Amino acid sequence: MGLIVQKYGGTSVRDAERVMNVANRIVEAYDAGNNVVVAVSAQGDTTDNLIEKAMEINSNASKREMDVLLSTGEQISISLLAMAIEKIGRPVISLTGWQAGFKTDAAYSNARIDRIDTERLQNEIDKRRIVIVAGFQGINKYGDITTLGRGGSDTSAVALAAALNADICEIYTDVDGVYTADPRIVKNAKKLDDISYDEMLELASLGANVLHNRSVEMAKKYHVKLAVKSSLNKVEGTLVKEVNKVEKMLVRGVTRDNDVARISLCGVEDTPGKAFTVFSLISKENIGVDLILQSIGNNGKKDISFTVKESDLDRVIEILEENKEIINAQEIKFAKDVSKVSIVGAGMVNNAGVATKMFEALYNAHININMIATSEIKISVLVPRKDAERAVVAIHDKFMLA
Ligand code: ADP
Ligand code: ASP
Ligand code: MG
Repeated sequence: MGLIVQKYGGTSVRDAERVMNVANRIVEAYDAGNNVVVAVSAQGDTTDNLIEKAMEINSNASKREMDVLLSTGEQISISLLAMAIEKIGRPVISLTGWQAGFKTDAAYSNARIDRIDTERLQNEIDKRRIVIVAGFQGINKYGDITTLGRGGSDTSAVALAAALNADICEIYTDVDGVYTADPRIVKNAKKLDDISYDEMLELASLGANVLHNRSVEMAKKYHVKLAVKSSLNKVEGTLVKEVNKVEKMLVRGVTRDNDVARISLCGVEDTPGKAFTVFSLISKENIGVDLILQSIGNNGKKDISFTVKESDLDRVIEILEENKEIINAQEIKFAKDVSKVSIVGAGMVNNAGVATKMFEALYNAHININMIATSEIKISVLVPRKDAERAVVAIHDKFMLA
């Protein structure tokens, strides 16, 4: 008898009809003789609505209390889905993250799963029950509720699959699989039959929210076979897997990330140790810095620009202000109206022409590039946010349709 882990996202369970649809699909897998464990997200816009509710009362609420609030969304879904399966007449039980044994670290609102104590889960599976687990949540060593970061239910599902040694982890969502670009932005994007863990990890980290990046990281680490499919049809989805040798460079996807802000330190002294000073102050607070650009010195001065997540901007500005004597910049500037647009594909490094082609697409679309970063597997550019979607379309056309 096989064990399947399935995950259903928010749009897939947004109302009673969709919950019944999902229940039927789960029962189908169960009736085929499989053990089935399901991770489920909060319905529709529930999580966003809960955040709004919190903002009405305290826009500076502690992350601990936010987690207590946000975890309720998934609790609604698991009970409703279990009721739907009861109605069809199969044995089922719903479990919250802590009942299911999800132990996380203490990083409220963005916790990492340390382990899953599978005893309870295994007991329920052994009784041939369908087990419905709340995604996105766990409990830390203080006994407090934690959540795994937006989109984190994917990671709950992969963690279940890894801990229970499942045969496959199926992520059911509102698109037919992983596409060459977000099909909502690029109408002629193509569905990929398969994609490597590394490429998928880059795409997810660079803004393709079809999978939570940590879920891909975990699938790679624990060799979880991962499939992305639609919850609304039976179309063959995308398999995320270890990929064989890269024979020729292929751009696999284009993506954009709007959660970016740019900071420029203008006119800092052109002496050794400046970059070290600035970035150590920031990393001490556990804030990640992404694209970095430093100008060549001129008259003993240079400029350092870098990007951070938009949500980290206020804190970074505070840090820079608190240390302005040490940094000693003539001016500190920042911009929120920027986006990062990236192409991803293994073997990028051996192909000089790829970057040129990307820049040409942007030039033809009259889109200005602020910053550039390349690696073995990706090229990212920072562009004005108003141009980001156009940039994705232009680059996609250039690579996919040429
Ligand atoms: P769920 O609620 O099921 O977790 P999400 O909204 O988190 O769904 O993720 C699915 C969405 O991801 C799609 O509706 C699509 O707009 C978006 N998306 C972004 N990039 C891609 C891509 N490359 N391929 C497929 N979908 C993508
Ligand atoms: N409900 C959570 C969110 O909206 C987790 C998830 O959907 O994966 O981010
Ligand atoms: Mg999601």
